[in-house]
Amino acid sequence: MRINIAIDGPSASGKSTLAREICKRLNYIHLDTGAMYRCAALHAERTNTNINDDDELMDMLDTLNIELTEEGKVLLNGEDVTDAIRTNEISMASSNISTKRIVRERLVEMQQEMAAGKGYVMDGRDIGTVVLPDAEVKIYLTASASARAMRRYLENQKRGIESNLITLKNEIVDRDYQDMHRKYSPLRQAEDAVLIDSSDMTVTEVVDEVMRIISGKI
Ligand code: C5P
Repeated sequence: MRINIAIDGPSASGKSTLAREICKRLNYIHLDTGAMYRCAALHAERTNTNINDDDELMDMLDTLNIELTEEGKVLLNGEDVTDAIRTNEISMASSNISTKRIVRERLVEMQQEMAAGKGYVMDGRDIGTVVLPDAEVKIYLTASASARAMRRYLENQKRGIESNLITLKNEIVDRDYQDMHRKYSPLRQAEDAVLIDSSDMTVTEVVDEVMRIISGKI
């Protein structure tokens, strides 16, 4: 039996890594909804959209086409923006644009269409609460801000990007605050989600724990 799996949690908690690993083991499809808000932010920037003006936002959304390929690429109106959406500037801009109700409505609609059926692992901030409230498995993945900043720092180092640990931690804390305190669909743990704090866990330990939860359902 195939099911749907919702993974929510604050930034840099390892949601995408976990989702990818589960998909490998189960041959499921990963839908990274954060990448979609990042595309919206990049498209708004490129089209000089004033995100405080609903008419301008509507026009921007009408010309926004997002594809998440099976190989893990992100296409914005056909262009590969997989790396372009990962800058610090787009991280904060995506958190800003994701506070807007009409943006959330449009992206949630796209996400629900993409995951019609079973066999999806979707990660984001409102998956268990809003996008897939009927998901058979819901995980709320978190870790201390210091652990998350350190992981981002090491990830950047590996990619040859210079970063400052304190700045990274401050950015993570600011973005989480905005994501948890916004009016529409703030980040919160769904009542039926399993909480996993990965501060002192390896990736394999987290994946094994989630696979145990999943095997109880399929
Ligand atoms: O997961 P990621 O860090 O790529 O998400 C970027 C931003 O998009 C988040 O900080 C959050 O504001 C927004 N987001 C959201 N709802 C989701 C996924 C992401 O509001 N389901």
